[in-house]
Amino acid sequence: MQGTLFVVSAPSGAGKTSLVHALVESNPDLHVSVSHTTRPQRPGEVNGVNYHFVDSDQFAAMLNENAFLEHAQVFGNLYGTSKQSVADQLKAGHDVILEIDWQGAEQMRRQAPDAVSVFILPPSKEVLQQRLVGRGQDSDDVIQSRMAQAAEQISHHVEFDYLIINDDFNIALDELKAVITSHRLTQNKQAQRYQSLITSLLS
Ligand code: 5GP
Repeated sequence: MQGTLFVVSAPSGAGKTSLVHALVESNPDLHVSVSHTTRPQRPGEVNGVNYHFVDSDQFAAMLNENAFLEHAQVFGNLYGTSKQSVADQLKAGHDVILEIDWQGAEQMRRQAPDAVSVFILPPSKEVLQQRLVGRGQDSDDVIQSRMAQAAEQISHHVEFDYLIINDDFNIALDELKAVITSHRLTQNKQAQRYQSLITSLLS
């Protein structure tokens, strides 16, 4: 049975990565796609785990080979999702999460209309700024530029299937789990999963 694609987007600092990390820890059937990026590696990030860190030439070569399912420029850096790795995971029956920006989500909507999309919002502008500062990963300039672009990103929330407010982390995590679970329980998915049970119940 083919897995499902979940797309999760948020303005930078809304807590998307922490939520997805916690979600995947409690849900081994979910796999997070590791994107390629030209962004410099942050302290603590591991190549091949957080991202595949590549230079602009390597990224351009992958673009030429049509190797990306979607790609976008975000905050001056290039990001892309590898076609092959997502296809392999879905084929193996795993559900896959793409943690991508709204531009990538827009491309996915066209390419994979069955993908389920979730947008995560912070509870306020102040909290968004505190979270960006608190994670201690970016310079003041980067934080200011991300804050300046937050409203533009947030304006795209209307394009998503689900909207989650990440005020209390555990509540937001439960809501994200609920989205995944309810999608897995749709008749179409369950009928595929329990095909032999249904056949035997009908015989
Ligand atoms: P960061 O540099 O903070 O890790 O990510 C910056 C933004 O790029 C985030 O909104 C993140 O979701 C987005 N992003 C990460 N990987 C991809 C990707 O493969 N494609 C697209 N379109 N956006 C991505």
